Order: sequence, then C-alpha cells, then structure tokens
Amino acid sequence: MLPNNIFLKIIDKSIPAKIAYEDEQCLAFHDINPQAPVHVLIIPKKVIRTHDDATAEDQSLLGHLHLVANKLAAQLGLAKGYRLVINCNEDGGQTVPHLHVHLLGGRALAWPPG
Ligand code: AMP
Repeated sequence: MLPNNIFLKIIDKSIPAKIAYEDEQCLAFHDINPQAPVHVLIIPKKVIRTHDDATAEDQSLLGHLHLVANKLAAQLGLAKGYRLVINCNEDGGQTVPHLHVHLLGGRALAWPPG
C-alpha cells in the first residue's frame, strides 16, 4: 500500500523543498534523492493519487504538466535531451501517492529502465 502523501506538505510549504516552478495548477521542485544531475518533480496541486486515477476532467492539467516540463527543461539546460517518467503503483515503482512527473537529464540516460 502506498504511504502518506508527503507532497501535500510541500505544496502547503509545511516542509521545505527547492522549488523550481510554481503556478496555480502545479508545483515543481528538485528531488531530494536525485538520480541524474537534473531531477525535478512536477506535481499537480490537485490530489490525484496515481496516473490511473486521472480522469477526463484532468486532461488539460496533465497537458499543463508536460508543458511546464518543457519550460523547465529549457531553463535547466537540457537542450541535449531529457526523460519524463511517471511511476504508477507498485510495479511502476511509485512510492509517493500523489501523481508526479520526474524530469531527468544532464547525462545520457540508459534504456531500458530497471
Ligand atoms: P516515485 O518513486 O515515482 O513515487 O517518486 C517519488 C520521488 O519523491 C522519489 O524520487 C523521492 O526521492 C522523492 N521525494 C520523496 N520525498 C521528497 C521530498 N521531501 N522532497 C523532494 N523529493 C522527495
């Protein structure tokens, strides 16, 4: 079972994070345990536990997260490329029950993932 939603505490600023971007729909912050030179998490402010829980109502919000990723990739110097990852549920390796897009870059990334 997924643990508590620590990202809600980052959204309400009750725990600190290195914030890279914020608007009314989403927040982006640097991952506490980076897996690449650039590792930012982009999260909706709306609680959506997993990618599986997104509905048609969330269509434009999901698109917004992608466009914010584009903006951040440019700002963070990822012109050579980057990877967006959404882990979903247990087999997907999701550990925080709040939908998040990992933006990874700054080195050549291997494929397939583990
Ligand atoms: P996932 O495994 O896809 O659910 O990703 C959760 C990510 O959240 C992991 O990469 C963690 O390192 C990251 N993480 C957990 N707690 C924090 C935190 N307080 N601040 C920043 N990143 C965090």
